[in-house]
Amino acid sequence: MARKISELYGELTFSRKVMKEKLSKEVYAKLVETIDEGSPLDHDIAADVAHAMKEWAIENGATHFTHWFQPQRGGTAEKHDAFITYGENGEIVERLSASQLIQSEPDASSFPSGGIRSTFEARGYTAWDPTSPAFLLESEDSKTLVIPSVFLSWTGAVLDLKTPLLRSQRALNEIAIKLQRLLGNRMAKRIKINVGPEQEYFLFNKDLFEKRPDLVITGRTLFGAAPAKGQQMEDHYFGSIKDKVLNFMEDFDMELFRRGIPSKTRHNEVAPNQFEVAPIYSESNLGIDNNLKLMDIMKKVAEKHGMIACVHEKPLSGVNGSGKHLNWSIGDDTGTNYLEPSKSPLKNTSFLLTIGAIMIGVNKFGGILRAAVADAGNDHRLGANEAPPAIMSIYLGEYLDQIFNEIAGIGSKPTEKQIAQINLGVQNLPNVAKDYSDRNRTSPIAFTGNKFEFRAVGSSQNCSEAATVFNMITAYGYSEIFDRLSKMSGDDVKANALVLLKDIVKETKRVRYEGNGYSEEWHKEAEKRGLPNTKTTPEALAQFHAKDVKDLFTKFKVLSEHELDAKIEVKLETYVKIKDIEFKTAINIAKTLVMPAVAEHVKNTAKAAVASAEAGVKSKALIAELKAAEDAYAGISANVSKFDALQAKIGNISDLHKKANACASEGAKGLLDLRSAVDTAETLVEDSLWPMPKYQDLLLKL
Ligand code: ADP
Ligand code: MG
Repeated sequence: MARKISELYGELTFSRKVMKEKLSKEVYAKLVETIDEGSPLDHDIAADVAHAMKEWAIENGATHFTHWFQPQRGGTAEKHDAFITYGENGEIVERLSASQLIQSEPDASSFPSGGIRSTFEARGYTAWDPTSPAFLLESEDSKTLVIPSVFLSWTGAVLDLKTPLLRSQRALNEIAIKLQRLLGNRMAKRIKINVGPEQEYFLFNKDLFEKRPDLVITGRTLFGAAPAKGQQMEDHYFGSIKDKVLNFMEDFDMELFRRGIPSKTRHNEVAPNQFEVAPIYSESNLGIDNNLKLMDIMKKVAEKHGMIACVHEKPLSGVNGSGKHLNWSIGDDTGTNYLEPSKSPLKNTSFLLTIGAIMIGVNKFGGILRAAVADAGNDHRLGANEAPPAIMSIYLGEYLDQIFNEIAGIGSKPTEKQIAQINLGVQNLPNVAKDYSDRNRTSPIAFTGNKFEFRAVGSSQNCSEAATVFNMITAYGYSEIFDRLSKMSGDDVKANALVLLKDIVKETKRVRYEGNGYSEEWHKEAEKRGLPNTKTTPEALAQFHAKDVKDLFTKFKVLSEHELDAKIEVKLETYVKIKDIEFKTAINIAKTLVMPAVAEHVKNTAKAAVASAEAGVKSKALIAELKAAEDAYAGISANVSKFDALQAKIGNISDLHKKANACASEGAKGLLDLRSAVDTAETLVEDSLWPMPKYQDLLLKL
């Protein structure tokens, strides 16, 4: 009999239940405090915790441990060490010391650092992050104890994506608590930021996938003519799930549950063979770690079922891409969600101000919210009529929109009656807002009842970059509000807040948009409003260079100027590398797979034309066919030569920014030209000769 979820849930994690069993009362209490309060780890307990963790891991079959971290280039990294050490008499014993738990030194020299480390000082170290539980990494024949960690250079500079996230949480915590105090909240001790990342992905038949070098190497198809049946029927969304997929999903969910990942929802997405999985939300650091684990587990489980799980943002051109909607909310340790309308007028003041803070943040720093999700994959998806545009605007829903407009219209000092009216309006909000919000999926930042949904994150991305910026711009908004509110006279904080909100609504008007974010009309309107609309990664990343952006990062101690420069460089380097790999792969496929197939087709058509002429029939159709085949061959050949030369030219550009820009403009165009020539040939060449599975196969067969 299959086990119940509640029985297997979290069995691969060093959970509170295990901690309680394995640790003394005092040590357990201190560790829980560290986790809950985010307070520094008491070094005196580290040895006990390390011992307990090792015992638990070994009992469960583990032989090795690893620090697990999130390098800036994306993905996760690990380096395994056996638990062994020499005992007193030179025998081998198993041990995990306090220092091994707390800190490790992987050879960091091969991780990109954007020039943070000089070559003679390549060392970096990882440090345990106790707020995310240790867990067991499992393959069929192995188990490894995984210790979630941050990754820093020897001088303490950031080399990973988790450290800035933790720092942004700290900054937001500080200012949010300060503002809450000003509003009269004496209860909250700590701010809680919750995230629920909805993950979209494609499944492909493994055999078909592996016959396409573009998919294998780059994660997306570089070629492929549009199929007769793509997603135009829209019959896949929420459609009934095929058995093969359901079997995978069940297995996948169980593996998630065993790792303490609260997977809640699974369903078909819009494109054929596209799906979504969403967990119950968690505190942001853990929720994001869990999403990274989820992507990894998804790939492993899919392979067992003869499929490849693909999280690329745009595996197939002309078909919907995949995103990761980052649901985000902020509240405190009393259980209050500041984005939840309430019966209490004071809480509603905090609710409105929190939305106000986000409006201030997006108005001033929307460009870096876009930059936070900029990468080669997401460039194909943003603005492609299935995902929000690259313009950052806020959607509030009709009801809340109206409330803010009312606030903007009220007189200089609102009366008690007006305050009561607005309060009543907010209380009535949740259901209405939710209903409406679901009908607008075109906005990148949508208020959905008790949270914001940031929809611009790419499906393959580590969403901590988006969360870091979202936290930071909210902290910025809160700090503006705090400063302005502190300076106002009179002690009716509710009335003052409404007066301030009136200004905020007016000042940030340009970032609110309730219409269709995909429409041409909005693009024009956004331009008039002066909102940034950066279409490519290099363009978007340039936003990080602005003086006030650097000030923002340093003010909240999220990244120093040097660390920010390094981050931009790593992102640009990664972008250029991905483009370079795509360009080379495309040229290779065109030369070694497609051109021989087209040549064969030319030969066959020529033979048929000759044979028919010999038989006394001069087939005009065959001659036309031959001409078309020859033209297709010549078209590919010419484009390959041109693209080859262009690629070499781009390769010779030494300035990284210029190189990235060249990849995004000429390079991308060169690839599209080559693609168009190859796709034309695909529609001519006999099926049996075509060297790769076609879109139709990829989309309809599993
Ligand atoms: P919808 O489908 O309307 O977007 P769901 O309730 O399905 O809304 O939520 C989608 C995701 O948002 C889930 O991962 C869910 O756990 C998460 N979520 C729900 N409430 C919150 C919240 N208050 N803060 C953060 N995430 C949330
Ligand atoms: Mg949603």
